[in-house]
Amino acid sequence: MGKSGKTVSPKLYFAVGLSGAIHHIMGMDTSKVVVAINKDPRAPIFQYADYGIVGDLFEVVPILTEELKKEVSKG
Ligand SMILES: Cc1cc2nc3c(=O)[nH]c(=O)nc-3n(C[C@H](O)[C@H](O)[C@H](O)COP(=O)(O)OP(=O)(O)OC[C@H]3O[C@@H](n4cnc5c(N)ncnc54)[C@H](O)[C@@H]3O)c2cc1C
Repeated sequence: MGKSGKTVSPKLYFAVGLSGAIHHIMGMDTSKVVVAINKDPRAPIFQYADYGIVGDLFEVVPILTEELKKEVSKG
C-alpha cells in the first residue's frame, strides 16, 4: 500500500509497527481516523496519527483487542 501500490481511505486505520515512511503515508493519509502503535516515540507516523500509543505492539495489541471486544459486546 502506498506510492507503489494500493491507496485506502478507511474510517479507522491502525498503523501497528509502521514507521510512517512517506511512501506508505501516500497510501493511507486520507483515512478518517489513524491510530498509531509504535515503540519509538519519534516515529514519523505519530505526526499523521489522531491517536498514538508508544509501546511494544506485542503488549499493546492484546490489551487493545480485549478492550475493543468489551466495547463491542456492550452493543
Ligand atoms: C521507490 C520506493 C517506493 C516505495 N513504495 C512503498 C509503498 O508503496 N508502500 C510502502 O508501505 N512502502 C513503500 N516503500 C518503502 C518505504 O519507504 C518504507 O521503507 C516502508 O514503508 C517501511 O515499512 P515499515 O514502516 O513497515 O518498516 P520500518 O521502516 O522497518 O519500521 C518499522 C517500525 O516498527 C516499529 N517497531 C518495531 N518493532 C516494534 C514493536 N515490537 N512494537 C512497536 N513498534 C515496533 C519501529 O519503531 C519502526 O518505527 C517504498 C520505498 C521506495 C524506495
